[in-house]
Amino acid sequence: MESKSYNPFLFAQKQFDNAADLLELNDATREFLRTPMREFHFTIPVRMDDGTKKIFKAFRIVHNDARGPAKGGIRFHPMETVDIIRAMSMWMTWKTSVADIPLGGSKGGVICDPHHLSMYEQEQISRGWVRQIIGNIGPHIDIPAPEMMTNSQHMIWMLDEFEKITGVKSPGAFTGKPISLGGSFGRKEASGYGVMITIREALKELNIKPMNTVASFQGFGNVAQHAIDLYQKMGGITKCVSFWDNEDQKSYTVCKKNGIKLKELQKITDTFGGINKEKAHELGYEILDGDAWLEQEVDILVPAAIENQLTEDNVGKIHSKVKIIAEGANGPTTPDADEILNKTNILILPDFLTNAGGVICSYFEQVQNNMNYYWSKDEILSKLDEKMSTAYAAVSDFAKENSLNMRQAAYVISVDRVVQACRMRGWI
Ligand code: NAD
Repeated sequence: MESKSYNPFLFAQKQFDNAADLLELNDATREFLRTPMREFHFTIPVRMDDGTKKIFKAFRIVHNDARGPAKGGIRFHPMETVDIIRAMSMWMTWKTSVADIPLGGSKGGVICDPHHLSMYEQEQISRGWVRQIIGNIGPHIDIPAPEMMTNSQHMIWMLDEFEKITGVKSPGAFTGKPISLGGSFGRKEASGYGVMITIREALKELNIKPMNTVASFQGFGNVAQHAIDLYQKMGGITKCVSFWDNEDQKSYTVCKKNGIKLKELQKITDTFGGINKEKAHELGYEILDGDAWLEQEVDILVPAAIENQLTEDNVGKIHSKVKIIAEGANGPTTPDADEILNKTNILILPDFLTNAGGVICSYFEQVQNNMNYYWSKDEILSKLDEKMSTAYAAVSDFAKENSLNMRQAAYVISVDRVVQACRMRGWI
């Protein structure tokens, strides 16, 4: 179902157009980079557990692969649209570029709701997805990874199908695998830790100690939980987290004045990042509306759930004490909301820089697969820290030198690198 009011691809294009203006790109370059290079739309027939056949619609979209094989996750979501995948594939190109890893950008998806699918049905969808796209993925072409509502189990089903068809062991064809089957230490922590490393670097520049800050998160999934983990290790207090309640079909915020307890909440959280609100209430948490996470008197807001969450309708509710908004999710802020926020003193850490930790670690996973030699967790997390801090410093320095905000600076750096690669290849 295509939403008329919300189209992330138009947002992504608008953000790119702003960067293209700053870089004074010519018309052909703009035309080439504002649309994906390749799109695959296909169907996956699956025999369901009750014996009926169901057809699932699926996509794989490569935005750009000038800097290396394309890289991007596969989302399973009932409200998936081709324009969400297009936008996300474009953001992946900028993400790999700003992180300066030799990969391009892609994204895939299947319109389905894993809440209502058995594991066997999900396996059939995963294997079917690979069969339909087999000639156009692979370690040197386009490498998928887990994303929303997919995990290491889906990656292993996909890799197994890929290896069965090709007859070649190719662990580097998918990332986000279990550690015992070619996965990398640190991958599950990487996106959330990367978000928090970015916040740490920003706080350093603002001369604020993490231990003197309080944060509120939207979402309590992979990204948020690991970001909170590192934040707590740095001494920060998380006052609220919000989540989507699938039963009520609405979101809630759970808060504790002196800070949530991560492990305690994780015990009452399902694999989709949904918190059992009755149990949370019993544990002394306040249960508030879905938007309440945004209205808190905190120093840091971390949208780490889904896209299109900070809009011109709700950014006015942000407390004047907030100093940093760190975009853990992809595309959480609409361009209109961005314009409003840019007139405030809030430092906005843009998504494709802030949440690049996951793809950086996916890249490390692939490097290890190709070497068939594996690094320790400490080694990987220190490499991740170095990559994230370097990317942050490059964007922050460029922003200061050129009087740009962080989003503009991140865009100019990453788009320029992709333009240079396309030019050297003679594409534009
Ligand atoms: P996840 O599925 O593990 O968790 C999502 C969380 O958001 C859950 O707690 C869910 O309840 C909550 N949520 C969903 N809709 C909500 C709503 N309307 N209001 C409040 N909460 C809501 O997903 P994740 O892997 O943590 O990813 C979160 C975001 O980060 C996504 O935008 C994803 O694209 C992006 N991202 C993820 C990774 C990664 O490695 N996992 C990497 C980069 C970016």
